[in-house]
Amino acid sequence: MYLSEENKRIFYKAINQNNGIIIVNGPTGSGKSSTLYSILKYKNKEEVNISTVEDPIEYQIEGINQVQCKNELGLDFATILRALLRQDPDILMIGEIRDKETAEIAVKASLTGHLVFSTLHSNDSLGCINRLVNLGIDSYLLSLVLQMIVSQRLLRKLCPYCKKEDQNYREKLKSLNLPEEKYGDVKFYASGACEKCMNTGYIGRIPVFEIIYFDESLKNILAQKKEIKQNFKTLLENAMDNAKEGLTSLDEIMRQL
Ligand SMILES: [Zn+2]
Repeated sequence: MYLSEENKRIFYKAINQNNGIIIVNGPTGSGKSSTLYSILKYKNKEEVNISTVEDPIEYQIEGINQVQCKNELGLDFATILRALLRQDPDILMIGEIRDKETAEIAVKASLTGHLVFSTLHSNDSLGCINRLVNLGIDSYLLSLVLQMIVSQRLLRKLCPYCKKEDQNYREKLKSLNLPEEKYGDVKFYASGACEKCMNTGYIGRIPVFEIIYFDESLKNILAQKKEIKQNFKTLLENAMDNAKEGLTSLDEIMRQL
């Protein structure tokens, strides 16, 4: 998992807390599960009790109590979570927060001293907060429990053998709402086609992240329902860093963000 130094610092600070909620956010195929599983592997020590409820269990980790959801048997996220909480795990991983009941249990678990990891489907980190508020979780409660939101995407990586200079970058920057002046002498690249990439123009993927850590001042802003101004590097900015280095194309960023 590639993170900038600053992001790495806040990422580990958040996952090393004893309680609170940490959310990994993004659409299907954005690499959320793989981020969550790497966190669980990192936290998986003998003295730490980790339980998960998942639908489906994508990856087995030894030493972790993983429970599969079985909706047809009435074993939904909420029911399993209540049973798991009675065993008082240190860490709880909820595959996905999809409904009010699950969201409420996540908040309650976190308030009673558990560290909760989960995923959400929304465009970006601020969208993630709105989604939780729309599920009926009060901003004040959220401010007490939210530790970190990680939003992510997997961008396709340009094939180094056939990528070519992008002649139409100006209009693409415009459609991404980015000022051209900001990228003065940057060379952007677009995909080509060759045997090495089977004419797709891309080989491999690069993860990009947007990380919000809820420190005291951000918690206050959230509690008072004020607008969160961006004091973090956005997905788009992180994606553009990769485009500036010629690792991905503006087309790919427009497709994914
Ligand atoms: Zn190629």
